[in-house]
Amino acid sequence: MSDGDVRGQLAGQLVEAAEKLFAAGVMSHSGHANLSARLDGERLLLTPGFVRGLKPEQLATVGFDGQVLDGGLRSVSAEIIAMHSAVYRARPHVGAIIHTHSPSATAFAVAHRPLPCRTEPMLRFGQAEEVPVVPWGPRGSDVSVRGIADVLRRRPTTAAVLLANHGLLVFGPDPAATAHLVVAIEESAEAEIAAAAIGGAVDFPPGAREAVRAAIARVAS
Ligand SMILES: [Zn+2]
Repeated sequence: MSDGDVRGQLAGQLVEAAEKLFAAGVMSHSGHANLSARLDGERLLLTPGFVRGLKPEQLATVGFDGQVLDGGLRSVSAEIIAMHSAVYRARPHVGAIIHTHSPSATAFAVAHRPLPCRTEPMLRFGQAEEVPVVPWGPRGSDVSVRGIADVLRRRPTTAAVLLANHGLLVFGPDPAATAHLVVAIEESAEAEIAAAAIGGAVDFPPGAREAVRAAIARVAS
């Protein structure tokens, strides 16, 4: 496939993923989010600063170094290139990244509480461990980006992090799988908060997470 074909295909997938997030009801009131897909080892396709009503041709091509190569980007979005690039650099197999302010997941981020893995969808859609919290740093700042890279180093198998006092950052092989995980994480956070009112959520029985992980690996292989 040509570079243009790959770009077109990924742009369509990102727009679909954004629509899925709105349809699933996991967006915050502001509708704030940014989504990206890896083009290659040094470039990504990024939402231009809004996602509601997004069209494929509105996505921007940017370098991991922050340079805008093609398309328009609102200045607020330039700040988040480093956040996305840090994940692509740390995780060579990641193909897509989604950042949202999904309300229940953000409640955990604001409370500086890791989100436990205690629901079936979260396990099934790729997060078989708690979602760790990255310490606060202003959006796109060196402190924030270093914090993300540091947590990814310490937690080599996590597919998501909570950004303290901010929101959620999820990554996966492609835009659709990543959007599924955003929804699963938001549902899990909602269930945790609801369960707190009736005595608190309870862990899976011993070995259950490992068994599901093994079953998924068998199906995938
Ligand atoms: Zn944000």
